[in-house]
Amino acid sequence: MKKPTIVVLGAGYGGLMTVTRLQKALGQNEAEIVLVNKNDYHYETTWLHEASAGTLHHDRVRYPIKSVINGSKVSFIQDSVLEVKTEDKKVVLENGEIAYDYAVIGLGPESETFGIQGLKEYAFSISNVNTAREIRDHIQLQFATYSSEAEKNEDRLTIVVGGAGFTGIEFLGELANRVPDLCKEYDIDFKKVRMYCVEAAPAVLPGFDPELVDYAVSYLEKKGVEFKIGTPIKGATPEGIIVSKGEDEVEEIKAGTVVWAAGVRGNSVIEASGFEAMRGRIKVNLDMRAPGHDDIFIVGDCALIINEEINRPYPPTAQIAMQQGEVIAKNLTKLVRNESDLETFTFENKGTVCSLGDDNAIGVVFGKKVTGKTASFLKKMVDNRALLLIGGPSLVAKKGKFNIL
Ligand code: FAD
Ligand code: NAD
Repeated sequence: MKKPTIVVLGAGYGGLMTVTRLQKALGQNEAEIVLVNKNDYHYETTWLHEASAGTLHHDRVRYPIKSVINGSKVSFIQDSVLEVKTEDKKVVLENGEIAYDYAVIGLGPESETFGIQGLKEYAFSISNVNTAREIRDHIQLQFATYSSEAEKNEDRLTIVVGGAGFTGIEFLGELANRVPDLCKEYDIDFKKVRMYCVEAAPAVLPGFDPELVDYAVSYLEKKGVEFKIGTPIKGATPEGIIVSKGEDEVEEIKAGTVVWAAGVRGNSVIEASGFEAMRGRIKVNLDMRAPGHDDIFIVGDCALIINEEINRPYPPTAQIAMQQGEVIAKNLTKLVRNESDLETFTFENKGTVCSLGDDNAIGVVFGKKVTGKTASFLKKMVDNRALLLIGGPSLVAKKGKFNIL
């Protein structure tokens, strides 16, 4: 009998966790495993704020996909997925097509701009290695240009971060460490630089522990970040951003760099493939399959699961994506072996740690609040754990964070 083909789309946290578990569980004769990803490398999305600020080189946040897959069991195709044709059981790629018996969609997030004008054209987003390099280089170019221009344009030195969610705050933490170095490098008075965090909600890190939020805000303020809370961004222009000020008033904030970190959605391939979805995220069945599609599993940021305790979706995180990948690998193994008792997914929340640069952080870990160096240490351990789960100790040795203070 022909062995089934399992096609995994996306080599992010969810996709790689699925593949690395599948290659351990299944014998060579049991299934054909194919992994498709845009690049021949995996990047740690959770470290992209560091590469974007320039505090960590982009090569440190990525590694070759082939270094973690078993070539005798998994074939890797470097290509971009355009659509999943569910009726025909085919994946359409930029450069061809692949037929599947089972598919796993783990194509990750995209920046959500909520249709706000000008953001796509004039703002950056922390989305992948390319956008991280662009942000880092753009800020550096603004500083270099300011130093060399005869008529100084101080707006070049203003950086606006839209959104005070975890991404915005983690990026500001890195930026606050990077800017003093840039000032030294380009002979600029630090007082001329402005770093704004513009948040629509009435609080920073909405919903997070207020005591920890206060800690983060006062730390970042001391490092020069100015918070504009309760201030929705309404638009972006070549000169900066437009924000709402009261009922009908708007204000312009001029800035040389605008980074939009105010939300994510699931990958647009989900909608292009005709799945029923909420902002690119499919509300999955308990076994992680897409409703009405017994041959398709969804992992990571493209999957939506409701936290029944609060009747709201779990936030899309690497933590949940990796846990889902493990369950999907188990369920695929069962399906390949014609077993029908599929596992159901339950999220085991280990906590959240938000870095404030390389040397500080806040977090709640196993229900306990942590700040400062302890939290920063734990954040590095969380980062190293992701490497360990996917690539084992050798990947931790090559890519791990050991700069523990
Ligand atoms: P990803 O890991 O993003 O992987 C998606 C993969 O699909 C990528 O390799 C991409 O190249 C590929 N791909 C995309 N489109 C296509 C296509 N059309 N064709 C082929 N390949 C494609 N979560 C935490 O739990 N802890 C944290 O500390 C944390 N920190 C974060 C910090 C930042 C700056 C950001 C932006 C996010 C952070 N998150 C964190 C959230 C976390 O990164 C995501 O939830 C997680 O990456 C989702 O995993 P995924 O497998 O769905 O997608
Ligand atoms: P988010 O949705 O969590 O936060 C976006 C923020 O932008 C919100 O505070 C929102 O109020 C604000 N916002 C929305 N529209 C706005 C507007 N028009 N003007 C100004 N502000 C606006 O998004 P995120 O921070 O990118 O996080 C995405 C996911 O990744 C989340 O699930 C998060 O938990 C996860 N993440 C986790 C970590 C961590 O655990 N350390 C780090 C980064 C991201």
